[in-house]
Amino acid sequence: MTKNISAASSGKVPGLDPVPIFIGGKWSVPQTEKTSPVYNPSTGEVIAQTPMCGLEIVDQAVKDAHRAFADWSETPPVERCRILFRYKMLLEEEFEPLARRICREHGKNIAEARGDLRRGIEVVEYACGIPELLKGEVLENVARGIDCEMVRQAHGVCVGICPYNFPALVPMWMFPLAIACGNTFILKLSEKVPLTGIRLIQLLEKAGLPPGVLNVVHGGRECVDALLTHPLVRAISFVGSSPVAKYIFEKGTQHGKRVQAAGGAKNYVFVLPDADFDNSVTGLVDAAFGCSGQRCMAGSTAVTIGKAAERLMGPLSKAVGSIEVGPTDREHGARMGAVISSEHLVRVSRLIESGVKEGASLVVDGRGVKVKEAPQGFYLGPTIVDRVNAKMEIAREEVFGPVLNIMRFEDLDAAIEMANLTPFGNGACIYTQSGKAAREFKHRIKAGMVGINVGVPAPLAYFPFSGWDDSFFGDLHLQGKEAILFYTRAKVTTTRWFRHGEGDIWHKD
Ligand code: NAD
Repeated sequence: MTKNISAASSGKVPGLDPVPIFIGGKWSVPQTEKTSPVYNPSTGEVIAQTPMCGLEIVDQAVKDAHRAFADWSETPPVERCRILFRYKMLLEEEFEPLARRICREHGKNIAEARGDLRRGIEVVEYACGIPELLKGEVLENVARGIDCEMVRQAHGVCVGICPYNFPALVPMWMFPLAIACGNTFILKLSEKVPLTGIRLIQLLEKAGLPPGVLNVVHGGRECVDALLTHPLVRAISFVGSSPVAKYIFEKGTQHGKRVQAAGGAKNYVFVLPDADFDNSVTGLVDAAFGCSGQRCMAGSTAVTIGKAAERLMGPLSKAVGSIEVGPTDREHGARMGAVISSEHLVRVSRLIESGVKEGASLVVDGRGVKVKEAPQGFYLGPTIVDRVNAKMEIAREEVFGPVLNIMRFEDLDAAIEMANLTPFGNGACIYTQSGKAAREFKHRIKAGMVGINVGVPAPLAYFPFSGWDDSFFGDLHLQGKEAILFYTRAKVTTTRWFRHGEGDIWHKD
């Protein structure tokens, strides 16, 4: 429950970063009954408190966004695009401090943080092409003397609800394209990592975005429910875990909203005996342990075929042994950082233990890793669990930590069949030199994003982020042209102009 929005203040609490909301062009920290701690995972310290907003604040934000829509939707696309160009320049100027901000609140390393931001900026670059992307279609003479045109118009107030694992990229999957299309927007950042998103929006304000076009609120279920059911909200973008994605999709659509909801994943990395093993090991290590495994495109299971396991295990264990784990919030940060929270550390450790209890063998155990310079950080070292089978909990659940399962198969067919039983359908990839095997895999694997000798590939801004099944609820995906379709609706006008005296029913003498 929100106590009183009018009691909002600058929110300065000594030692803590303020976590303001942004409504109608004004930043303020509301006095809410509940707050949620934001940690620096590298040290375990609390660095901020996120105010958990309720109905009152959400209602004010949506009403302000609704008011701003009238003018923003009539603003020529080229003018909207000029603001986005200025925004892109400001993001480039502040690139390093923003990347450092991501390291501090998320725990990923600086290279991963730069990637998080760079991929987000690419969406802004794509959105700068909005005058071209928004163009409609015309066909003359659909019947003699009758023309038909289709234009795409903005919906009104759109909402974005974000997860913690990409503090820059995921919000930027959403708001740049939504506002470029002429919508106004309410951004609900993850309560675990709100600081990067706040700075992203401060820069957008600096780029000249008019008040009310983009608003920021914070919170959990109560805040999200208020957004999902608000009569003035027209469309909702969500990224997060599958159970919440399903809930958002069902509740949002029940209330008449257009919804796209991306969920969790279990991504398989197939390694065939004819693979280039140096590149496979490098790709596998990046896919499994990048961002400490907290990626929806993490390659969390290596599926080896035939003798591939024998050739893979030695170099893989060696490569994993050289990964240094430690703080990433400083000048020379470690290669692998902490996970998001102590609760998450406990959950992932429990899943590793469940694998052992169910008969898997632990090749590398990252539990109990000690980081001297930051003993309170949320650290888990890279872990490899071999001889996993499909029935084990660790094989079924999305682990979302630095844990690589190995599943051994004798033949490709059986392995594809096993992989296709997962309820998820985000990504999959194969390492092989055989075009035939790669084609077979690409065609048959049940996943919306496939890699061939490139790790589990997250598509760039101009392609859809096209998860399937429990990895995505909805129809039109985030990013690319599908996002333009999602954030607009078609209007088709059929026109006939009468020549004097020709069937003119209104002017017949
Ligand atoms: P999460 O589902 O816990 O939270 C996501 C958002 O939903 C947050 O803003 C949170 O405040 C809100 N939320 C949480 N519980 C809710 C509830 N009961 N009702 C309403 N709202 C609720 O996800 P997370 O832990 O922040 O992020 C990790 C998950 O996101 C992983 O499952 C990962 O695979 C997924 N993810 C998916 C993609 C993709 O493109 N498919 C991309 C990034 C992350």
